[in-house]
Order: sequence, then C-alpha cells, then structure tokens
Amino acid sequence: AKAKGEGSIEIFDPSMNAKALARFQMEGELRRALERGEFVLHYQPVVGLDTGRIEGFEALVRWIHPERGMVPPLEFISLAEETGLIVPLGTWVLEEACRQAGAWSRAFPADPPRLMNVNISARQFQHKDLIETVLDALRAARMDPGTLKLEITESIMMRDPLASLEAMKTFKSHNIHLVIDDFGTGYSSLSYLKRFPVDTLKVDKSFVDGLGKDPESTAIVAAIISLARSLGMRVTAEGIETMDQMVHLQKLACDQGQGYHFSRPLSREKAEELLGQDPRW
Ligand code: C2E
Ligand code: CA
Ligand code: CA
Ligand code: CA
Repeated sequence: AKAKGEGSIEIFDPSMNAKALARFQMEGELRRALERGEFVLHYQPVVGLDTGRIEGFEALVRWIHPERGMVPPLEFISLAEETGLIVPLGTWVLEEACRQAGAWSRAFPADPPRLMNVNISARQFQHKDLIETVLDALRAARMDPGTLKLEITESIMMRDPLASLEAMKTFKSHNIHLVIDDFGTGYSSLSYLKRFPVDTLKVDKSFVDGLGKDPESTAIVAAIISLARSLGMRVTAEGIETMDQMVHLQKLACDQGQGYHFSRPLSREKAEELLGQDPRW
C-alpha cells in the first residue's frame, strides 16, 4: 500500500514485520526467563598444557527454555546486548560463577588455586557499576579475587581505549585477572596492548583450527605466543579439538588450552565429577 521508490521506507514489508515481532517476543521471553531462573552455567575446563591438569574453568551461559530446550548463547546474547538485558543477565552470571568457584575452592582445593573465567559483554564492561557488581559477587561467594578472570574481547577494549585502561587498572588493583578473548580477530593496536594490564591472551579458535594444516594460521599462533611472551603475558588457546593441535601448541610453549579434545563445557554435576577424578590429560 505504498510506493516502492528508491529510498522508500518499507514499513509494511511483511518479512520485516515478522522479524520485528520475533525479536519482540524473544525480548519478552528473555525477560521472563531471568525472572523464572531459566539460565544455567556450564563450565569448560582450562587445562595446563605442561601439566595436563585442570587449572580453571570458563563459565558459559545456557538458557533452558521450557519448550525449546537448551538454547545456545549465540542465539540470545546479542539480543540481550541490544536490549540491555545483558546487564542483569551478566550480573547473574557473575554471581553464579563466583558462588560455584567459591564452593569448589573449598570442596576441591588445589595448589595453585583454580581460576574461574567469566565473559564480560560490551554493555556490561561500559556500565559504571561493573566493579561494584564484581566485588559484591566475590564477597557474597567468599571467593578470592585473585582466582577470578574476566574475559574481554579486543573490540570491546578498543571502543574506548582510555576508559578501558582505567577500568582494567581498577580490576587489577583488586588482584582480578584479565584476559583478552578471541585475540587476533579484532584490531588491537599493539601500542595499546602493552599498556593494558592484561594477564593472558586467548588465541581464537579460528587460528587453532588451522594449526599444522595451514601455514598462515600456524604462523599467526606462533606470532601471538611470542608477542605474549615478550609482553610478559600468558597464552590460552581455545577450540583445541585434536591431539595434533594440542601437540603443536605444546611445542610452541603455549601455557593453557581449552577445547573438545579435553572436555566440552559441562553441567555443574559433570564438572564436579571431573574435579573429583582430578584427571591428567
Ligand atoms: P567464547 O567466549 O569464545 O567461548 C568459547 C565457545 O567455544 C563456547 O561456545 C564453547 O562451548 C565453544 N567451544 C569450546 N571448545 C570448543 C571446541 O573444541 N570446538 C568447538 N567447535 N567449540 C568449542 P558457547 O558456550 O556456545 O558460547 C559462545 C559465545 O557466547 C562465547 O564465545 C561468548 O562470546 C558468548 N558467551 C557465552 N557465555 C557468556 C556469558 O556468560 N556472558 C557473555 N557476555 N557472553 C557469553
Ligand atoms: Ca570467552
Ligand atoms: Ca573466546
Ligand atoms: Ca572464540
């Protein structure tokens, strides 16, 4: 019922309507899911590549939808980010991950203590209350701040490098560890990189995939590891699926690894079973 000229606004496009409606419904569902407690965390072991032991976990959120079953984060994190729901959801993730880490540090003590990694989204990182939220979660869980690791992507940090630097210094002053997640996929400026108080670079799965098969990926992984070394940072490789990739990373003296080769992300119960076994890979 309207002109289809160049530059016209297609308010009546039925497919647009369907998309907008689906989004709107999903937003309402997400809001209710938070109120009803439909989210759970799964935990993926982070393994020392020299010792083969569990040195920590990454907390990964899942939505247990009453009809659709388990919904992976890629299907709701970006909507949660756009609508701002990521802030209360992220607070819940921090509280739950800290509660779990505190409980595990007492039930399954380790020397050195295991770390808990928590992903922080852009909106959360920019929120003025984040540091308070983190410190409250640590206190409530009786968790040592030195065993919490926050994962922040390069692109989040580079949106406002100076503000990021200030926020990161505050976290460091509380002894909280910082990881640059998905390293290599963004556009980090190397001059900033050395100023950020970052403990660990996490090599993105897309480079680990090609290790030993494609010379470019192999060279990039080697370069990231030597860059990290010269900046005094540690390196974790994500998405390790094969023995071959693990051996390559060990040869490159990569510190830690995560991936299906060791373990998929596990429910709390399965993670506790694994902690009880204290496996060596
Ligand atoms: P990410 O932070 O890069 O997390 C790693 C993802 O790779 C996880 O997917 C994990 O299950 C998957 N993965 C681990 N090892 C392997 C492997 O060997 N092979 C393959 N194919 N995949 C592997 P997941 O849990 O679906 O999470 C996807 C993304 O959603 C995460 O990517 C992260 O960006 C985001 N996310 C997950 N949980 C949270 C959260 O609590 N807060 C925020 N802000 N983001 C989250
Ligand atoms: Ca991550
Ligand atoms: Ca990652
Ligand atoms: Ca990734």
